Amino acid sequence: MGKPVYVSFLIDCNWHGFSPLKPSSVFADVGYTVGTPEKTRILGDIKTALELVERSLNGKCNWSILSHPDQRYLLYRDPFLDCWREAVRQGGELSLHPHEDIPREGSRIKDTDYMRAVLEDLKNVIVREGLSSHSFRSGYFGRNDELPAVLAELGLTVDYSSAPGYKEPSVESDWMGASPSGGFIRASDAASYGTGNVDETGVFMIPLGWDGAGGKFTENYLFNEAAELETLLSVYAAIRRRAEAEGPQFVQYLFHLSAMNEPRFTKRVADFAGHLLQNDGVIVTGSEASEVFRKGSRGG
Ligand SMILES: [Zn+2]
Repeated sequence: MGKPVYVSFLIDCNWHGFSPLKPSSVFADVGYTVGTPEKTRILGDIKTALELVERSLNGKCNWSILSHPDQRYLLYRDPFLDCWREAVRQGGELSLHPHEDIPREGSRIKDTDYMRAVLEDLKNVIVREGLSSHSFRSGYFGRNDELPAVLAELGLTVDYSSAPGYKEPSVESDWMGASPSGGFIRASDAASYGTGNVDETGVFMIPLGWDGAGGKFTENYLFNEAAELETLLSVYAAIRRRAEAEGPQFVQYLFHLSAMNEPRFTKRVADFAGHLLQNDGVIVTGSEASEVFRKGSRGG
């Protein structure tokens, strides 16, 4: 047995056609648009995802629920609330995912007061429905160093926003120099997390799994729809080598709801999960990852 790699699977619960800023390499066909969400299709995708998560991840998944100024509450209302209840019943956790990206304008991630208001509102909506969320993910891996303090205030104690080695100024993303493995964020610098037992903010960052080599989603990260299985496995091998050299690793595996209608993408999630379970990987939710880390850093 090698040293463990703790992997938190995160499904970005988006809808087909959502691409408000820089069309990504992954969903490049749609251009700069918020899209026109089709409820029936979204429900079908969620059903597929719930089955996949129960079968391949034993229910342990982080469901990051998209919100956008043009579709603020779409996924925070019926008929979707019952889906999130089912996700939690399976053993999953819910994450707030406000994508404050305005077509032809830009990202609002750096506007801390604005972000605080959006997050507080979404959290309240979730709580009113008898659900709860204790985590956050920015849009496009945007970064705001003032945000961890706000997240702590709101009880959002896990953050999935980091993509170490990635920089894209058009979406306010810059994680150059950030740790490839998770840890508690130190005050006033979202990228200053990592090993060690410093726990200033109480917010645990789980970065996108990274091989440490380059900054391309198609080559260097655990990004299900961007990279082929073979690539994902070689990224995972690099993370395992890092675990052997530096100790247990805490990383995120990202996949998307809008891709769930394509069997090659659901198969890739299942194949990757099967591989990691045979190879020192442990599938954990965000709060479990944080708890394991906390115990480990106390020397337990
Ligand atoms: Zn997203």
